Amino acid sequence: MRMPRYEYRCRTCGDTFELSRPMAESSAPAACPAGHGDTVKLLSAVAVGGTAAAAPAGSASGGGGGGCCGGGCCG
Ligand SMILES: [Zn+2]
Repeated sequence: MRMPRYEYRCRTCGDTFELSRPMAESSAPAACPAGHGDTVKLLSAVAVGGTAAAAPAGSASGGGGGGCCGGGCCG
């Protein structure tokens, strides 16, 4: 049984650490290796597809580039 890994950061000492724990406990408090309890869960861990972060630029809606009703030719 594989458990997903989650990355946490300690706000007390600034250390980052990973924990393998069930998803049900992903948001449960995790103490840092040094024993501090003030930690936050980072979103970067759970490496499923690697680094697929960069969104393609230019393809976002709202630019009004291709349609007619954007520049005033419809109205
Ligand atoms: Zn710590």
